[in-house]
Amino acid sequence: MSVIGDVIEKIKQQDPYEFEFHQAVEEVLLTLEPTTKKHPEFVKAKIYERIVEPDRTITFRVPWTDDKGDVHVNRGFRIQFNNAIGPYKGGLRFHPSVNLSILKFLGFEQIFKNSLTTLPMGGAKGGSDFDPKGKSDADVMRFCQSFMRELFRHIGPDRDVPAGDIGVGGREIGYMYGYYKKLVNEHTGVLTGKALAYGGSLVRPEATGYGCVYFAAEMLATRGLDFKGKTVAISGSGNVAQYAVEKVNELGGKVITLCDSSSTILDEEGIDLEKCGYIMDLKNEKRGRISEYTDKYSNAVCYIGDSVWDVIKNQGIKVDIALPCATQNELDEGHAEALVKNGCICVAEGANMPSTPEAVRVYQDNNVLFGPGKAANAGGVATSGLEMSQNSMRFSWPREEVDARLLQIMKSIHQSCIDAADVYGKKKNDYVLGANIAGFLKVARAMLSYGIV
Ligand code: NDP
Repeated sequence: MSVIGDVIEKIKQQDPYEFEFHQAVEEVLLTLEPTTKKHPEFVKAKIYERIVEPDRTITFRVPWTDDKGDVHVNRGFRIQFNNAIGPYKGGLRFHPSVNLSILKFLGFEQIFKNSLTTLPMGGAKGGSDFDPKGKSDADVMRFCQSFMRELFRHIGPDRDVPAGDIGVGGREIGYMYGYYKKLVNEHTGVLTGKALAYGGSLVRPEATGYGCVYFAAEMLATRGLDFKGKTVAISGSGNVAQYAVEKVNELGGKVITLCDSSSTILDEEGIDLEKCGYIMDLKNEKRGRISEYTDKYSNAVCYIGDSVWDVIKNQGIKVDIALPCATQNELDEGHAEALVKNGCICVAEGANMPSTPEAVRVYQDNNVLFGPGKAANAGGVATSGLEMSQNSMRFSWPREEVDARLLQIMKSIHQSCIDAADVYGKKKNDYVLGANIAGFLKVARAMLSYGIV
């Protein structure tokens, strides 16, 4: 068997129930086959075996007391996967589905994503099975404080710099940063996604959604196309989805869908900037559900229990561009076939691994422009990197400067994918292979320089 085959086999045997991790490793390693031929030094130094094993995995108990005085116990995690090219960096996810497999998949992806950004950041991920949904601010605060009571000893501005992810937005980052500052008695850039008042960067909240749309625009440009007049399906209604809606509108596209884990809304007149403002208030301030959108905009239809991709498939909705921005494995083979049938020419992943491997094959077989998450959603962590730089300098760049840097980084990631696909791939514009190889090479070369550590 090949080196790659052996590594995949071994991780499956070692941890047979870590399905999401297996999926992520397989997705990356299978495209790295050409590097084993061109770089025998990587094979000799067992880079492939070493890169799938986290530097360390930290798990801990998170006890907390709710408003009624009842005691709860959640699980906390931090996977410090690889710091070959910079301090560990990656988000924290608070969601009941969080487990070791999901965080290992996300931490593994983060290694290559961070490398692609051109900034010096290693890969990590963490979080808890705590569900902030429906909890009072005081409950969330006590949970965040208990979580940080353990995490603080493992992180630091030059060691590991967490950020937000699903269930961890400005409120949670504020509570965690406040408590870190109390424990360590230092005001340093140890978390990103901070509010502007205490060291955040302009454009960080917008960065993942904007970056995903910038990446899609770059892909479209390779075919002489752009967003103007295009119909766009977006899933999710959280941080990434909201700013993807905003940027698509700015570039002249029409967004017709959004969802949460309970329902999907379809607004064929388009979710314009005013409606997007309503959604931001509904989701971020009122912490409401997306189904409430149809109370305000009665022309829209709400499909309870269906995902965006179910609605497109079942209702035969025409879309030009799809931006999955909710969660992993939300879009399967049948959904992808329906997208192709309904005219979709471009898919850019705002979420991490939202398309199943079978869905990706459908895009590739049908010549759909496909930007995998580790490239298309890297704008978030790239801007986190810019937040770290500003914190180190104790200085803030204006909005235009951060946005211009973000756009430049997304263009550069796009170009790196194309260049790596040209050198190592068989097909032009194979963004999956291009992103994996471009991200991998830098990390592998750094690991090689260090010897066996
Ligand atoms: P948020 O928590 O802000 O929003 C997540 C959204 O997805 C919510 O609308 C949520 O609905 C919905 N969702 C979650 N699970 C499901 C599900 N099973 N089915 C349908 N909808 C679901 O998270 P983000 O927007 O920050 O993150 C979204 C994705 O983007 C994740 O994959 C994340 O890893 C990725 N990402 C985020 C980055 C960032 O900067 N925030 C950076 C790079 C990637 P509900 O409210 O019902 O839970």
